[in-house]
Amino acid sequence: KKKVAVMTSGGDSPGMNAAVRAVVRTAINMGCDAYCVYEGYEGLVRGGDLIRQMHWEDVRGWLSEGGTLIGTARCKAFYERPGRLLGAKNMVANGIDALIICGGDGSLTGADKFRQEWPSLIDELVANGDFTEDQVTPYRHLNIVGLVGSIDNDLSGTDATIGCYSALARICEMVDYIEATASSHSRAFVVEVMGRASGWLAVNAGTATGADFVLIPERPEEHDWKEKMSLVHREMGKRKTIVIVAEGARDKEGQKITPTEIKDLLSDTSENGLALDTRITTLGHVQRGGSPVHMDRMLATLQGVEAVKAVLEATPDTETCFIALEENKIVRKPLMRAVKETQELAKAVESKDFTRALQLRDREFAD
Ligand code: ADP
Repeated sequence: KKKVAVMTSGGDSPGMNAAVRAVVRTAINMGCDAYCVYEGYEGLVRGGDLIRQMHWEDVRGWLSEGGTLIGTARCKAFYERPGRLLGAKNMVANGIDALIICGGDGSLTGADKFRQEWPSLIDELVANGDFTEDQVTPYRHLNIVGLVGSIDNDLSGTDATIGCYSALARICEMVDYIEATASSHSRAFVVEVMGRASGWLAVNAGTATGADFVLIPERPEEHDWKEKMSLVHREMGKRKTIVIVAEGARDKEGQKITPTEIKDLLSDTSENGLALDTRITTLGHVQRGGSPVHMDRMLATLQGVEAVKAVLEATPDTETCFIALEENKIVRKPLMRAVKETQELAKAVESKDFTRALQLRDREFAD
C-alpha cells in the first residue's frame, strides 16, 4: 500500500486543518495509508511519534478548527543537509515516499530542496549502513506536492492562498467595530494589518470597509502620501477617518511607513495641522486566529484532493508542483517558478523597481 504523508509548516493559517483532513481522507479513499507529520519539518527530523498514521475518523470535525492541529514549527536543522538526511531516514523507516506540505514560500523552498537531494540522501543512508540497497529500492524517488497556506496571499502564481480569506474577513469585522467608535467620537484610526511584502489584505480590507486611505508596499509611487492625505481631509471636511496600512507599506522613496508617522500627521496641532484625535490599532495575531471562513475551507478541501492526485501521479521526471487557484480553477503549477517569482517580487519592492513588482503581483494590482 502506498503511504502518503501530510504536514503543515511555517506560519499557521486558517484552513490548514481542512487541508490535512482532505489529504487524509482522499488518500484513504484512493486506497493509500495516510500519515501526518506533526510539528512541520521538526517532526520529519525527529521522527518517532511525530509521524503518525491517520484514520478516517481522526480528522473528524477538523474543517472548522483554526490554526493547525498537527502543529507547525520553524526548524533550524532542516536548513542543513544532516537535518534533511535524518528526515529522509525517518521517511524510509515509515515507508513514506509521497509528501504533501502545506506552508509558505520558505517551507516550499525546503520541500523542493529535499526532493532534489533525495537520491543522494538515500545513497548516503545506504553508505552509512542505515538501510540495505534492497530496503531502499522502493523509495528511490520522492514525490512532493505543495499546498500554499498563508494569510498574506503572497505567493506568485496563485490567486489565493489557504487562509487569506479568513484573515480578510476578520480584518473587515474589526474595522467595522472601529468605524463605529471613530464616527461617534469624530476620531481618526490608523489600522495596521499583516501581509509582509504583500498589500493584498490591506487593499481588499480597505475596499470592503470603505476605508479612507490604504497604504501598501506595491504601489508607493502613487502617493506623496502625506500631502495627499492632508489635502483630501481639508477638501472633504471629514468627520472620521480610517487609514489601513499594510505592515510592509513604503513611501515613494522606499522607506517603511509606520502607523506612528501617520498618526503624527493626522494629529498635528500646529497651525496647518489636521489636529485629529488619532488612535493606532495594530490588529496583530487576531488576523490569523479563529475558524476559517467558507472560502478557505473550500480552497483547502479542493486543493487537498488535487494534491493527493498529483502526488500519486508524479513520476521521477515530473517537476515538483504546487496546487494553485487560477481564475477559479484548481490547477497544478511548477513550484520553484512560483517561489522564485515571489522572492523576486520582494526584491523588486526592496529595490524600488515597482513596475516589475506590479508585473509579478496579481493581475488585480497590475491592471
Ligand atoms: P514559511 O513557510 O511560512 O515561509 P519559513 O520561511 O519560516 O516559513 O519556513 C518554515 C521552515 O521551512 C523553516 O523553519 C525551515 O525548516 C524550512 N525551510 C525554509 N527555507 C528553507 C530552505 N531554504 N532550505 C531548507 N529548509 C527551509
